[in-house]
Amino acid sequence: MATITGNIVEDRVIPAAGHWGRILRRGESLRIVDLEGQQAVDFLCYNAADPSERYNAADTMKYAGTIFITAGHGVYSDMGRRLFTIVEDTCGRHDTIGGCCSAESNELRYGVTATPSCRQNFLEALAPFGLGKRDIVANVNWFMNVPVDADGRMGIVEGLSKPGDHVKLRAEMDVLAVISNCPQTRNPCNGFRPTPIRVIVRQAGPL
Ligand SMILES: [Zn+2]
Repeated sequence: MATITGNIVEDRVIPAAGHWGRILRRGESLRIVDLEGQQAVDFLCYNAADPSERYNAADTMKYAGTIFITAGHGVYSDMGRRLFTIVEDTCGRHDTIGGCCSAESNELRYGVTATPSCRQNFLEALAPFGLGKRDIVANVNWFMNVPVDADGRMGIVEGLSKPGDHVKLRAEMDVLAVISNCPQTRNPCNGFRPTPIRVIVRQAGPL
């Protein structure tokens, strides 16, 4: 259930297909709300003091012992340190293996050119922090549903998030977080209809 503690630092609706980025101080929390449901939220994070230390998908999965991370799991850097802890998760299904969409992959997979994409959103969200192409790695997709069958088959299917579902992440160090509110319309990751999300950053609350 929702736990509300600490003063609000930022409360913003990110429009469909939009992007966002900010540095969170250690102890601050980031709540990401899927306002209308079935909206993939592509997410990357970095050690704010040294962004060459960044989210590592493989290690995050290994430490969790699952590809489906949820409340209690850490979001780990490539230096074996927690960037965030997932402290609340009302959805329970997020993706760690599908990565982000790009204009190039949309052309390869769907034969369409010059589409908006999470990769471009990441580039725009990272630019104010002096980061770029070399800083984009395999990312987390909150609320995206990528099941894997016993024979290894995987695919992107409609998300399980309902309107108002959220994840709450606690920063375990000073962290740069960036979001692409996925603009994809060629596969079911957004229910073929990209929609707004809300992000709420709060100061550390009383323990
Ligand atoms: Zn996308």
